[in-house]
Amino acid sequence: SAATAGPGCVHRYDDALRVEEDRRAVLRADLEHALGRGELRLVFQPVVDVVLHRTVSVEALLRWRHPLYGDVSPTEFVPLAEESPLITEVGRWVLREACSTVAALDGTDLGVAVNVSAHQVRSGELVPDVLAALEVSALPASRLIVEITESVLLDDSHVIEDLTALRRLGVRVAVDDFGTGWSSLAYLVGMPIDVLKMDQYFLSNVEHDPARRAMCRAVLQLGSSLDLPVIVEGVTNAAVLTLLRDMGHRYLQGYVFARPLEAAQLAAGAWDVPDVPALPDVAALPAV
Ligand code: C2E
Ligand code: MG
Ligand code: MG
Ligand code: MG
Repeated sequence: SAATAGPGCVHRYDDALRVEEDRRAVLRADLEHALGRGELRLVFQPVVDVVLHRTVSVEALLRWRHPLYGDVSPTEFVPLAEESPLITEVGRWVLREACSTVAALDGTDLGVAVNVSAHQVRSGELVPDVLAALEVSALPASRLIVEITESVLLDDSHVIEDLTALRRLGVRVAVDDFGTGWSSLAYLVGMPIDVLKMDQYFLSNVEHDPARRAMCRAVLQLGSSLDLPVIVEGVTNAAVLTLLRDMGHRYLQGYVFARPLEAAQLAAGAWDVPDVPALPDVAALPAV
């Protein structure tokens, strides 16, 4: 406000901006060595089928432990990686690491979902990178899910061809952050996709906002019409879990089940699927 906006304030504002800019510059420079220095790792968050009461897949999420700043969020450093060819290198590493980690798990057919940046898809390296990751890890293609964002589908045709090629191999394609982008129902028909992951936006205030609940129902129905299973991510608490389950949502992911797990925790099977009573009619929905 006018009362607090003195020259001193402007000064502090400038300082804050500079600190942020400095941090970005440091991160940008250090990112180049992060992989080689072993500062990147993957954590894995379960996706739970509340009908069959089991974990169907895990989503691999990238983490960077910076020597100075500690854990840096991918929402901060992935965009920086995307400014350079580094994203291709990091993306390639993520694919291999995710496939290898899950392939090494004993006695499970758990799927693994890998987030793929639009830049990675556009580079044209995605298909060879996926092939290499599957070969090195010996993970069956049917256990890999590639997560792209809606906007990637609106790209030029080689993207559609590449995704089609992946599906021909048996890899599944999930549309991440679905529902807030540009896709219309008509547009989605015939797209090379297998799964919709509903954007977390729909869950904010969902317990108190009937419009949000209507949207959650609409996304489920849209998936059903297209014969595509829907995964809801960001299910934080039991109230939202119950609400979604009662609505007929079958595949849920979020802190209510498990925070993203370290690879060692995953290997130890160190998480429980909490007791969620199943509804009989949701079993009729398309399966992941
Ligand atoms: P995303 O793919 O939509 O991932 C879901 C995000 O929601 C993750 O954040 C996850 O930790 C968080 N989350 C899970 N459960 C809950 C919950 O109950 N409540 C709330 N509020 N959040 C929850 P994270 O790990 O910070 O990743 C953020 C984004 O960074 C991802 O969004 C994805 O777009 C990107 N990202 C992460 N790993 C990679 C990667 O390996 N490659 C690329 N290109 N992008 C990545
Ligand atoms: Mg994702
Ligand atoms: Mg998402
Ligand atoms: Mg995302």
